[in-house]
Amino acid sequence: MGASYSGSAFRAAAAPTATAITAPGRGSSLTLTTFTEPVALTDAALADEIGRRRTFAIISHPDAGKTTLTEKLLLYGGAIRSAGSVKSRRSDRHATSDWLEMEQERGISITASVLHFDYQGFRINLLDTPGHQDFSEDTYRALTAADSAIMLLDNRKGVETQTRKLFSVCRKRRLPIHTFVNKCDRVGEDPLGLLDDVQVELGIDCFVSTWPVRRDGRLVGVYDRERAKIWLYSDMGDHGKSRPDATLVDLESDELEAVIGTESVERLAEEIDLLEIAGTEADYEAVARGEASPVCFGSALTNFGVDIFLERFLALAPPPTARESTDGVVEPAEHPFSGFVFKVQANMDPRHRDRVAFVRVCSGEFDEGAEAIVSRTGQKLRLAQPQEFMARERVHAESNAVAGDVVGLLDRGSLRVGDTVAVGRPVEYPGVPRFSPEHFAQIHIEDALRRKHLDRGLRHLAEEGTILLLFAPSITGPIPIVGAVGSLQFDVLLDRLEREYSVSARLERLPFHCARWVTGPDKAIDKIANAYGRRRVVDADGAALILFDNEWTLRRSMEQEEDLTFHDVQPRKAADA
Ligand code: GDP
Repeated sequence: MGASYSGSAFRAAAAPTATAITAPGRGSSLTLTTFTEPVALTDAALADEIGRRRTFAIISHPDAGKTTLTEKLLLYGGAIRSAGSVKSRRSDRHATSDWLEMEQERGISITASVLHFDYQGFRINLLDTPGHQDFSEDTYRALTAADSAIMLLDNRKGVETQTRKLFSVCRKRRLPIHTFVNKCDRVGEDPLGLLDDVQVELGIDCFVSTWPVRRDGRLVGVYDRERAKIWLYSDMGDHGKSRPDATLVDLESDELEAVIGTESVERLAEEIDLLEIAGTEADYEAVARGEASPVCFGSALTNFGVDIFLERFLALAPPPTARESTDGVVEPAEHPFSGFVFKVQANMDPRHRDRVAFVRVCSGEFDEGAEAIVSRTGQKLRLAQPQEFMARERVHAESNAVAGDVVGLLDRGSLRVGDTVAVGRPVEYPGVPRFSPEHFAQIHIEDALRRKHLDRGLRHLAEEGTILLLFAPSITGPIPIVGAVGSLQFDVLLDRLEREYSVSARLERLPFHCARWVTGPDKAIDKIANAYGRRRVVDADGAALILFDNEWTLRRSMEQEEDLTFHDVQPRKAADA
């Protein structure tokens, strides 16, 4: 019963083989979940295991096709046998992960935060980045756990708001980014024009890796620039449910002419010439530095161009690399285990009131039973068996999570987003961003008897990072105030309070738009907090913050009060107190 799904071998005929695979090819299989005891890996086996990890996220604007592409990756990885369009009732979509929806609708088994499967010798860890329209911290934090990213664009829309925001986070982390221009089964913007826009808007060099091949506006294949040949796909007539057959042909071949006609061949030849003249040269070192992006064109719906994109991506995307820590650089294949929490989620299983902390493993191998240290608190934490969520059931995770993987740890409240968990030494990985809230609201409940439930819900959701929980002092006791980076987080908050804590609450928006933790003499804090457009509050740890009505007020306060220090993340001392 441990096994929840068996992968099926896919048709290999159309599959170009991936290059630069260091690990032995294992073909395609979905890992079975078993209850067998993991056996510790030798150093060489650990390095091999880590070398085949590819941990990445897809960044895109809603509707660009992320769910569809994810499903196709599952199809190609053998994790599902046939793809069906994941239908959307988007009404409360923001409240759940796209994958949970997929899981429910398709009956497939995936973990809630990372989807993993084996493909051509690689272990693919695809991190969930919830597709909220609004600014979402969750999505941004998921990127801290990724080693590379796929930027998915709609061929009619190019770079959109959410793409831009997510891209900037990847940029800061210098993540290698591979671009897939989707929906090329429909005629969209001129491909070179679109690439120009990407370069100008995002400041990243693009070079064409594959190029759409059309006949009468219909996508029939892609030109593979590296092979200097064309992949022609056959329409399987099943709306993209299965992998299309692909044939590799020369530009001068009769087959190509037969499929697209003389005129289209001539036009394609011109486009290819133009690519060589105008297109940027492939610079793989620049890709590794996150300064250039290879671009593939295709359609996640019909699957045309997806296989070759995946091949290129996996060949170039990096395995887990060394990370900076307070104890110097930590190599992934180095013992012992270390990792950081990038997401905490409460109530994943309504029958078990628990929280799961998702840890990205940065070094070594998950060492069940070992004693780890939580860097922020110095507390010891026994590493219990990691959890996975299969069809919403909790099961023990399979063996040997190593650097690059994500493990879900059941937690009773000792872990927070950003915490480092390490065995044997108190290292700390900086860099899980906590964004300063821009929206604030006071929370009210009709039924005062539910106050305890409200407090508990708010505390849990704050620990997850859904909201920032603050308190304004008053004579009747502290009044809870919630802060959020995007106002959509408020909807999620109310919805979850209702569903998970049976608390019906309402919000009264407050006229503040930024917040800073402040340290310094109490008198000075009070002095500025009492001025117009400001308010003094404390966070759940009792650390002082001031809310400001706008950036201008904040800047003026910073200039006027030289005795005070303003922090946009919670200062360490307060957190440790
Ligand atoms: P997400 O919001 O990014 O997860 O986008 P979805 O995968 O849910 O796709 C949004 C819509 O675009 C759906 O109606 C899909 O069927 C459609 N779509 C996705 N990929 C393609 C594609 O390659 N071609 C076309 N024509 N439609 C697509």
